[in-house]
Amino acid sequence: MHCPYCRHTDTRVIDSRTADDGGAIRRRRQCSDCQKRFSTVEQMQLAVLKRSGATEPFDRAKAIAGVAKACKGRPVGDDDLARLGQQVEDALRASGWAEAPAHEVGLAILGPLRELDEVAYLRFASVYRSFESADDFETEIAMLRAERPAPAEARADPPPIPADAAPGDTARAGVTPARSRHT
Ligand SMILES: [Zn+2]
Repeated sequence: MHCPYCRHTDTRVIDSRTADDGGAIRRRRQCSDCQKRFSTVEQMQLAVLKRSGATEPFDRAKAIAGVAKACKGRPVGDDDLARLGQQVEDALRASGWAEAPAHEVGLAILGPLRELDEVAYLRFASVYRSFESADDFETEIAMLRAERPAPAEARADPPPIPADAAPGDTARAGVTPARSRHT
């Protein structure tokens, strides 16, 4: 590995220790020419096993590209996507895949994407799970609604809490904000 300061091709390892609970090795190196020091991290190459049987290195940018399409026109920024890419990679590494099947990559995307934006999630899920009819959307939306903390959360205009609401309703509205975070 060449020196990042002077491009000299000979550097030597002066310290080596495991990091990330043994998931990586961090090495301290010194250039034998300019004597400057720098660190490298050696990490397992996470690979994706494609349906064709071929494997390719996991590429965070590539994984995000599909999600970015689903997020078009939605209030999802580059930072959100970068964070999602990180979450997906972390999840795949944490699950111990040396070669993650392609569909596992998609699965790892669905969870954090749902947290990020429900519309983008539905778009992505419709492609990823090959939705074939409006019924598939209906089923998925029903599941989203069932798992949503507050029933009014995704409405564009959260209805005001009626003055004569039952005490239970008022309490619930107080705990979970009824306003969608994107409005
Ligand atoms: Zn150097």
